[in-house]
Amino acid sequence: MDHRLFLAARALVLADLEARRAATPEVVSALEDAVASRQWWAEQWPEGEVYVAGLVAQDVQDALFEEVGRWPLCLSCGADAPEHPLYIHPDLGGPDPVWVCEESGTAVAELGRLSSPGRAAPTA
Ligand SMILES: [Zn+2]
Repeated sequence: MDHRLFLAARALVLADLEARRAATPEVVSALEDAVASRQWWAEQWPEGEVYVAGLVAQDVQDALFEEVGRWPLCLSCGADAPEHPLYIHPDLGGPDPVWVCEESGTAVAELGRLSSPGRAAPTA
């Protein structure tokens, strides 16, 4: 098992937590737990490697929902839309996990590339 895979998964999810200023010590420790348990999981099933990063993101999302609330929130739908979170697609966690807004059906960002609130939205 290549442990760089887990370092990479940790880095991607941490980047998204930091983008939304959610990386508190408690949350980072939930991330460490998620990485450790998915490491165990992937050791049992090496073909599962491509799903690891997305699954870690989903684990952290679940942990945050219990502790702090929804993460990450969709910032793409505008201020009129009710608050709603993004979800990892594909549901299985990979390959190539992206954050998707299920309200609008759009892929918002690759895992690890969420934007921070306040930054000007791209004008297209
Ligand atoms: Zn949305």
